[in-house]
Amino acid sequence: MGRSFTVTASAVVTPEGLRERARIEVDGGRIVEVGPVPAGSAVPDRVLAPGFVDLQVNGFADVDCSAARDRDWDRLDELILAQGVTAWCPALVTAPLGAYAEPIARIGEAASRPDAAGRPTVLGAHLEGPFLGGAPGAHRRQHLVPIDLEWLGALPDSVRVVTLAPELPGAPDAIRLLAGRGVLVSLGHSTATFEEARRGADAGARLVTHLFNGMGPLHHRRPGLLGAALSDDRLTPSVIADGVHVHPAVLRTAALAKGAGHWVLVTDAVAWESARVGDRAIEVRDGAPRLADGTLAGSALTMDAAVRRMVTECGVPLADAVGAASTTPAALLGRADRGRIVPGARADLVALTPDLTVSEVWIAGLAP
Ligand code: ZN
Repeated sequence: MGRSFTVTASAVVTPEGLRERARIEVDGGRIVEVGPVPAGSAVPDRVLAPGFVDLQVNGFADVDCSAARDRDWDRLDELILAQGVTAWCPALVTAPLGAYAEPIARIGEAASRPDAAGRPTVLGAHLEGPFLGGAPGAHRRQHLVPIDLEWLGALPDSVRVVTLAPELPGAPDAIRLLAGRGVLVSLGHSTATFEEARRGADAGARLVTHLFNGMGPLHHRRPGLLGAALSDDRLTPSVIADGVHVHPAVLRTAALAKGAGHWVLVTDAVAWESARVGDRAIEVRDGAPRLADGTLAGSALTMDAAVRRMVTECGVPLADAVGAASTTPAALLGRADRGRIVPGARADLVALTPDLTVSEVWIAGLAP
């Protein structure tokens, strides 16, 4: 970890925006300085960004996080890293209450593996359900249950994000309980009224799971969860920018409505090659994994593709799109030492070519 080196680029994404012709000094796994490159010296034509942080990954390619064991995690490391993601939350979809302990324990073990060169950090589990509301999407309805405060209170610390529906009886108490333990509470798969969503934010919810998907549309007299997510500065919505879940014009609208630093990109990727998500059969049709009836069931998106789409198809400034994939999700999880290219931060970095494909990744200053 003691290695000291300098990386340079034609552009570096910093909290103040894009900085042209800059260098980053790294020592002991941390960024120690960000400065200019002397005039006249050549710099590679690339963008250096903070390593991406994905708050919602059900699986990838042929590995489902709910079933991942041992070597599967090494494979996930590789697949995640290839997208420029240096920290992430494996997600578990709705299952019977008794079926969570094992996969949560396996995610906890993956999170506590010793640091190794090129290993992205597993930040902790994201439970999407089983306390969902009126828009469960691909989640099995028979496993949706009323809020169980005792069950939530007994969750291990390896659970870092919980998506629940704010319209359920007891939701504010559940949100207060979780937020009080430092868990990031997300509102989603919900047909909550505007008032119910705001009460969720009052209780401490800060994220809204995949805005537009798993919720009612925006009605100008009944704004609902969508209207609360767009208008309430306490709520940061995530979006699935695969061009299928949400039209690029609407992605652009959401980014403009919330403003830089107030929305995040997630992939919500599933193990689309395995043909299963949790215990549900899926197949990729029309650009996304779906149940047999056509219901969208996660994505086949990568985080670098999400950033590219936001920039090239949605016209969002590069620094804003990168921030939505790194700075903002890291901050929501209380990880201020990640997701930012500033002195003192972990040297989790991704280099992007001019067409925004991943060319190199460093994790705590180490390249895999
Ligand atoms: Zn979902």
